[in-house]
Amino acid sequence: MEDLVESGVLDYIRALKKKGTVRHIGFSSHNPEVAEMLLDTKLMDMMMFSLNPAYDLEKGDELGIGTVSARRRLLERCQAEGVGISVMKPFHGGKLLSSEMSPFRFQLTIPQLLQYAFDRPGVLTVLPGVRGLADLNLLLDALGATPQEKDYSVIGSALPEHAVGSCVYCAHCQPCSKGIQIGLMNKYYDLARGGDVLAADHYRKLEVHAEACIRCGHCDSRCPFGVKQSQRMQEIARYFGNL
Ligand code: SF4
Ligand code: SF4
Repeated sequence: MEDLVESGVLDYIRALKKKGTVRHIGFSSHNPEVAEMLLDTKLMDMMMFSLNPAYDLEKGDELGIGTVSARRRLLERCQAEGVGISVMKPFHGGKLLSSEMSPFRFQLTIPQLLQYAFDRPGVLTVLPGVRGLADLNLLLDALGATPQEKDYSVIGSALPEHAVGSCVYCAHCQPCSKGIQIGLMNKYYDLARGGDVLAADHYRKLEVHAEACIRCGHCDSRCPFGVKQSQRMQEIARYFGNL
């Protein structure tokens, strides 16, 4: 980062953007700390970032840098600041597709891992490596996956202790008898608290709001991530009620 500033590259790009020669500026990083510094320049429109459940839960390799919370904060910041994320390494180099190689010791599927990536705040696109037509066909097949096939909540069985209790927006706890979109509502809540001004607006546009929760406990019993959602609904109702 210091090299970028000292060499004048950042100033040069800034000038090109001002002239309209450069329309959008992006960067790629594996490191949340470096990514935060680049976001601080307020020059960036997009970020390529290595992201998958192993990296996010501190069970990856040398490219999975940063704590659970640092990585989460970075994605929320990107969403709040309108910086689109393009995901690298969604399958952890293929390791997550194999029970022998996966750090979780169980296999996840392409539809599950794509859905996981797309559910992260700020993510607009996912770029798996494609070695040939066979890989491409496997990815295209994922387009027809059912919601059950895309459900990645099995990851909840491999959480580090400090990640228990955080909603990952997987929607495994649906349906709610009151029609609350639990995962989506939690995403808007987290984003709004992180400074995303549009998130509160999105929340208000939901058909059913957190006040509708009757604390039946169905979602609590279904959540593999240990989220006490019936309590959280009261918190969400209070938060948006006070805005
Ligand atoms: S409460 Fe649990 S099951 Fe429901 S969306 Fe959040 S993480 Fe998934
Ligand atoms: S506790 Fe609330 S949010 Fe959860 S299923 Fe019951 S009514 Fe829906």
